[in-house]
Amino acid sequence: MTAQIIDGKAFAATVREKVAGHVTRLKEENGITPGLAVVLVGEDPASQVYVRSKGKQTVEVGMNSYEHKLDADTSEEDLLALIDKLNNDPAVHGILVQLPLPGHLNEDLVINSIDPAKDVDGFHISNVGLLGTGQKSMVPCTPLGCLMMLRDHHGSLSGLNAVVIGRSNIVGKPMAQLLLGDSCTVTIAHSRTKDLPEVVRGADIVVAAVGRPEMVPGDWIREGATVIDVGINRIERDGKNKLVGDVDFESASKVAGAITPVPGGVGPMTIACLLANTLTACCRANGLAEPDGLTA
Ligand code: NAD
Repeated sequence: MTAQIIDGKAFAATVREKVAGHVTRLKEENGITPGLAVVLVGEDPASQVYVRSKGKQTVEVGMNSYEHKLDADTSEEDLLALIDKLNNDPAVHGILVQLPLPGHLNEDLVINSIDPAKDVDGFHISNVGLLGTGQKSMVPCTPLGCLMMLRDHHGSLSGLNAVVIGRSNIVGKPMAQLLLGDSCTVTIAHSRTKDLPEVVRGADIVVAAVGRPEMVPGDWIREGATVIDVGINRIERDGKNKLVGDVDFESASKVAGAITPVPGGVGPMTIACLLANTLTACCRANGLAEPDGLTA
């Protein structure tokens, strides 16, 4: 079997188009422009690239982008004061604080100071609780993107066996909650899981979010399973730098029914879902109907 490639780049473009269409209508019919504020503390090069890309895509879908770049030695007090200001600014519907923060800042404290209704990353403890209890929340962008691709591929996910490898707060745990919400039978595997290959072989859906290059080989994958590879790992091969996932694409794509590539799979969906969440937050803030197909 040769797996169908789930094209995240193309899918993300359709999500952005839907968001842009909705933003146009919001402007024309309601006079509202959704706004996303991104806060970057310090000069981490990878974070700078992400923030630039988020700002560019926000503007491309017609939203307002507010970038706040703070020095690496910014005090917690000053950062919290900025977040408070953004929480109270009606032009800002989404707030994202780029992680990781410099070591002297308490990440939990900072994230939990964001108004949960504007927490477009879905990391605030209230949103985590709402998601865990099946209530309307802001959903973390990467797992939301994975869910959208899975729903698009399968239609209904009800009753399917899903194995999520990785139990982080930003990917593994919310991913498992979302799959449970769609009535999958969910297993969360992690670094202490016994006989991981056997666990993965039982899966109709495998979501790998580990951060270990190509650790899941094809012979762990059940014939016809759907494989979502969240991992982004930089490796050197044949003297060249390369991006690979947590799944060994070459062997897995020979057995899987469908698979996301790295790059071009989950990655592009993350920012697209950030824009979708900002739009959702804006609609909720204004008591308007939420966009179809862009939320969990
Ligand atoms: P993390 O380091 O917070 O968590 C990794 C998880 O993997 C842990 O729960 C750990 O228990 C598990 N793990 C580690 N070694 C294992 C092993 N040998 N067997 C089974 N499980 C093991 O990582 P994260 O933030 O969840 O990110 C995971 C990967 O996804 C990384 O490569 C990251 O770069 C990538 N990522 C991609 C996107 C995207 O937009 N595509 C977004 C977030 C993260």
